[in-house]
Amino acid sequence: MAKNILAFGPNGSGKGTQGAIVKEKYGIDHIESGAIFREHIKGGTELGMKAKEFIDKGDLVPDEITIPMVLETLGKSKEKGWLLDGFPRSKAQAEALDKSLTEAGMNLDYVIEIVLDRGIAAERIMGRRLCANDNNHPNHIAFDAIKPVEKDGKLVCRVCGGELSVRADDQDTDAINKRHDIYYDTDTGTMAAVNYFKNAGGAKVISVDGSLGIKEVTEAIMKELA
Ligand SMILES: [Zn+2]
Repeated sequence: MAKNILAFGPNGSGKGTQGAIVKEKYGIDHIESGAIFREHIKGGTELGMKAKEFIDKGDLVPDEITIPMVLETLGKSKEKGWLLDGFPRSKAQAEALDKSLTEAGMNLDYVIEIVLDRGIAAERIMGRRLCANDNNHPNHIAFDAIKPVEKDGKLVCRVCGGELSVRADDQDTDAINKRHDIYYDTDTGTMAAVNYFKNAGGAKVISVDGSLGIKEVTEAIMKELA
Protein backbone atom coordinates (compact mmCIF):
# COMPACT_ATOMS: atom_id res chain seq x y z
CA MET A 1 0.00 0.00 0.00
CA ALA A 2 1.09 3.55 -0.70
CA LYS A 3 2.90 5.22 2.18
CA ASN A 4 2.33 8.77 3.34
CA ILE A 5 5.20 10.40 5.22
CA LEU A 6 6.08 13.75 6.80
CA ALA A 7 9.75 14.75 7.03
CA PHE A 8 11.01 17.12 9.71
CA GLY A 9 14.48 18.47 10.35
CA PRO A 10 16.09 21.91 10.69
CA ASN A 11 17.77 23.57 7.76
CA GLY A 12 21.24 21.99 7.67
CA SER A 13 20.10 18.56 8.92
CA GLY A 14 20.24 16.85 5.53
CA LYS A 15 16.47 16.40 5.43
CA GLY A 16 16.33 16.90 1.66
CA THR A 17 18.98 14.23 1.05
CA GLN A 18 17.26 11.70 3.30
CA GLY A 19 13.86 12.52 1.83
CA ALA A 20 15.14 11.70 -1.65
CA ILE A 21 16.38 8.30 -0.41
CA VAL A 22 13.06 7.44 1.30
CA LYS A 23 11.19 8.51 -1.84
CA GLU A 24 13.23 5.97 -3.82
CA LYS A 25 12.52 3.19 -1.33
CA TYR A 26 8.74 3.42 -1.72
CA GLY A 27 8.51 4.96 -5.17
CA ILE A 28 6.39 7.75 -3.69
CA ASP A 29 6.26 11.44 -4.66
CA HIS A 30 8.63 13.81 -2.84
CA ILE A 31 6.61 16.97 -2.33
CA GLU A 32 8.42 20.08 -1.15
CA SER A 33 6.23 22.84 0.31
CA GLY A 34 7.79 25.60 -1.81
CA ALA A 35 6.95 23.62 -4.94
CA ILE A 36 3.27 23.49 -3.91
CA PHE A 37 3.11 27.28 -3.87
CA ARG A 38 4.92 27.59 -7.19
CA GLU A 39 2.65 25.01 -8.81
CA HIS A 40 -0.55 26.74 -7.69
CA ILE A 41 0.65 30.22 -8.59
CA LYS A 42 1.97 29.16 -12.00
CA GLY A 43 -1.21 27.19 -12.68
CA GLY A 44 -3.30 30.24 -11.76
CA THR A 45 -5.56 28.24 -9.43
CA GLU A 46 -7.99 30.15 -7.22
CA LEU A 47 -5.92 29.31 -4.13
CA GLY A 48 -2.73 30.20 -5.97
CA MET A 49 -4.09 33.65 -6.89
CA LYS A 50 -5.09 34.29 -3.28
CA ALA A 51 -1.68 33.14 -2.02
CA LYS A 52 0.08 35.39 -4.53
CA GLU A 53 -1.65 38.47 -3.13
CA PHE A 54 -0.08 37.79 0.26
CA ILE A 55 3.32 36.88 -1.14
CA ASP A 56 3.43 40.02 -3.31
CA LYS A 57 2.85 42.14 -0.20
CA GLY A 58 5.59 40.25 1.61
CA ASP A 59 3.06 38.74 4.03
CA LEU A 60 2.79 35.15 5.23
CA VAL A 61 0.11 33.15 3.45
CA PRO A 62 -2.59 32.28 6.02
CA ASP A 63 -3.24 28.66 6.88
CA GLU A 64 -6.80 28.86 5.49
CA ILE A 65 -5.22 29.13 2.05
CA THR A 66 -2.09 27.03 2.58
CA ILE A 67 -3.79 23.92 4.01
CA PRO A 68 -6.29 23.41 1.14
CA MET A 69 -3.44 24.01 -1.31
CA VAL A 70 -1.30 21.34 0.35
CA LEU A 71 -4.24 18.93 0.46
CA GLU A 72 -5.02 19.41 -3.21
CA THR A 73 -1.41 18.62 -4.14
CA LEU A 74 -1.24 15.60 -1.81
CA GLY A 75 -4.54 14.35 -3.23
CA LYS A 76 -2.93 14.02 -6.66
CA SER A 77 -0.45 11.55 -5.14
CA LYS A 78 -3.08 9.61 -3.23
CA GLU A 79 -2.55 6.38 -5.19
CA LYS A 80 1.23 6.58 -5.25
CA GLY A 81 1.85 7.90 -1.77
CA TRP A 82 3.87 10.95 -0.78
CA LEU A 83 6.64 12.35 1.38
CA LEU A 84 5.87 15.93 2.39
CA ASP A 85 8.88 18.11 3.19
CA GLY A 86 8.76 21.64 4.68
CA PHE A 87 5.18 21.53 5.94
CA PRO A 88 3.70 21.83 8.56
CA ARG A 89 5.92 24.48 10.17
CA SER A 90 3.74 25.21 13.19
CA LYS A 91 1.65 23.37 15.72
CA ALA A 92 -1.54 24.97 14.36
CA GLN A 93 -0.68 23.75 10.84
CA ALA A 94 0.04 20.26 12.17
CA GLU A 95 -3.36 20.04 13.84
CA ALA A 96 -5.16 21.39 10.78
CA LEU A 97 -3.28 19.07 8.41
CA ASP A 98 -3.91 16.02 10.56
CA LYS A 99 -7.64 16.75 10.67
CA SER A 100 -7.84 17.48 6.93
CA LEU A 101 -5.96 14.30 6.01
CA THR A 102 -8.47 12.22 7.95
CA GLU A 103 -11.35 14.02 6.22
CA ALA A 104 -9.71 13.41 2.82
CA GLY A 105 -9.31 9.70 3.59
CA MET A 106 -5.52 9.81 3.65
CA ASN A 107 -3.56 8.00 6.35
CA LEU A 108 -0.34 9.33 7.77
CA ASP A 109 2.03 6.34 8.09
CA TYR A 110 5.33 7.85 9.28
CA VAL A 111 6.72 11.04 10.69
CA ILE A 112 10.50 11.23 10.27
CA GLU A 113 12.35 13.66 12.53
CA ILE A 114 16.04 14.39 12.08
CA VAL A 115 17.22 15.65 15.46
CA LEU A 116 20.11 18.08 15.35
CA ASP A 117 21.49 20.64 17.80
CA ARG A 118 20.89 24.19 16.58
CA GLY A 119 24.55 25.17 16.73
CA ILE A 120 25.57 22.16 14.68
CA ALA A 121 22.82 22.81 12.14
CA ALA A 122 24.11 26.36 11.62
CA GLU A 123 27.70 25.07 11.34
CA ARG A 124 26.62 22.58 8.70
CA ILE A 125 24.99 25.28 6.59
CA MET A 126 28.01 27.57 6.91
CA GLY A 127 30.66 24.88 6.50
CA ARG A 128 29.89 23.96 2.90
CA ARG A 129 32.59 24.87 0.39
CA LEU A 130 32.30 24.97 -3.39
CA CYS A 131 35.10 23.80 -5.67
CA ALA A 132 35.94 26.18 -8.52
CA ASN A 133 36.69 23.25 -10.86
CA ASP A 134 33.81 20.88 -10.24
CA ASN A 135 30.41 21.21 -8.53
CA ASN A 136 30.49 17.51 -7.75
CA HIS A 137 33.52 17.75 -5.47
CA PRO A 138 31.90 17.90 -2.03
CA ASN A 139 33.91 19.81 0.57
CA HIS A 140 32.71 20.60 4.06
CA ILE A 141 34.74 21.88 6.98
CA ALA A 142 32.47 20.13 9.54
CA PHE A 143 32.64 16.62 8.04
CA ASP A 144 35.88 14.67 8.39
CA ALA A 145 35.07 12.46 5.38
CA ILE A 146 34.91 15.42 3.00
CA LYS A 147 37.12 17.97 4.75
CA PRO A 148 39.08 20.33 2.47
CA VAL A 149 42.88 19.95 2.61
CA GLU A 150 45.42 22.60 3.46
CA LYS A 151 47.86 23.79 0.82
CA ASP A 152 50.24 26.72 1.33
CA GLY A 153 48.25 27.78 4.40
CA LYS A 154 44.99 27.80 2.46
CA LEU A 155 42.11 25.33 2.32
CA VAL A 156 41.64 23.78 -1.12
CA CYS A 157 39.42 21.11 -2.70
CA ARG A 158 40.22 17.68 -1.25
CA VAL A 159 39.58 16.03 -4.62
CA CYS A 160 41.44 18.23 -7.11
CA GLY A 161 43.21 20.92 -5.10
CA GLY A 162 41.01 23.57 -6.72
CA GLU A 163 40.10 26.87 -5.13
CA LEU A 164 37.18 26.90 -2.71
CA SER A 165 34.44 29.46 -2.22
CA VAL A 166 31.22 29.81 -0.21
CA ARG A 167 27.65 30.45 -1.32
CA ALA A 168 26.48 33.85 -0.04
CA ASP A 169 23.15 32.32 1.12
CA ASP A 170 25.01 29.83 3.29
CA GLN A 171 26.75 32.63 5.23
CA ASP A 172 23.67 34.76 5.86
CA THR A 173 23.38 34.30 9.64
CA ASP A 174 20.22 36.46 9.86
CA ALA A 175 18.41 34.28 7.35
CA ILE A 176 19.65 31.07 9.02
CA ASN A 177 18.55 32.37 12.46
CA LYS A 178 15.14 33.38 11.19
CA ARG A 179 14.49 29.88 9.82
CA HIS A 180 15.90 28.17 12.92
CA ASP A 181 13.84 30.41 15.27
CA ILE A 182 10.70 28.96 13.69
CA TYR A 183 12.03 25.39 13.60
CA TYR A 184 13.31 25.16 17.18
CA ASP A 185 10.24 26.81 18.74
CA THR A 186 8.72 24.13 20.98
CA ASP A 187 5.67 26.23 21.95
CA THR A 188 4.07 26.97 18.62
CA GLY A 189 6.74 26.33 15.96
CA THR A 190 7.93 23.32 14.00
CA MET A 191 9.22 21.33 16.99
CA ALA A 192 5.79 21.83 18.55
CA ALA A 193 4.36 20.33 15.34
CA VAL A 194 6.62 17.28 15.72
CA ASN A 195 5.56 16.92 19.37
CA TYR A 196 1.94 17.13 18.28
CA PHE A 197 2.41 14.03 16.11
CA LYS A 198 4.29 12.24 18.91
CA ASN A 199 1.32 12.77 21.21
CA ALA A 200 -1.41 12.26 18.64
CA GLY A 201 -0.57 8.61 18.06
CA GLY A 202 -1.62 7.33 14.64
CA ALA A 203 1.55 7.78 12.60
CA LYS A 204 4.77 6.09 13.70
CA VAL A 205 7.28 8.79 14.65
CA ILE A 206 10.89 7.96 13.77
CA SER A 207 13.43 10.23 15.47
CA VAL A 208 17.02 9.84 14.29
CA ASP A 209 20.27 11.44 15.42
CA GLY A 210 21.22 13.89 12.67
CA SER A 211 24.74 14.41 14.02
CA LEU A 212 25.80 11.12 12.41
CA GLY A 213 27.02 10.83 8.81
CA ILE A 214 24.59 10.72 5.89
CA LYS A 215 24.90 6.94 5.53
CA GLU A 216 24.33 6.28 9.25
CA VAL A 217 21.25 8.53 9.29
CA THR A 218 19.84 6.67 6.27
CA GLU A 219 20.46 3.33 7.99
CA ALA A 220 18.74 4.51 11.16
CA ILE A 221 15.67 5.63 9.19
CA MET A 222 15.51 2.47 7.04
CA LYS A 223 15.65 0.25 10.12
CA GLU A 224 12.36 1.77 11.31
CA LEU A 225 10.52 1.80 7.99
CA ALA A 226 8.51 -1.28 7.08
ZN1 LIG B 1 37.66 20.04 -6.83
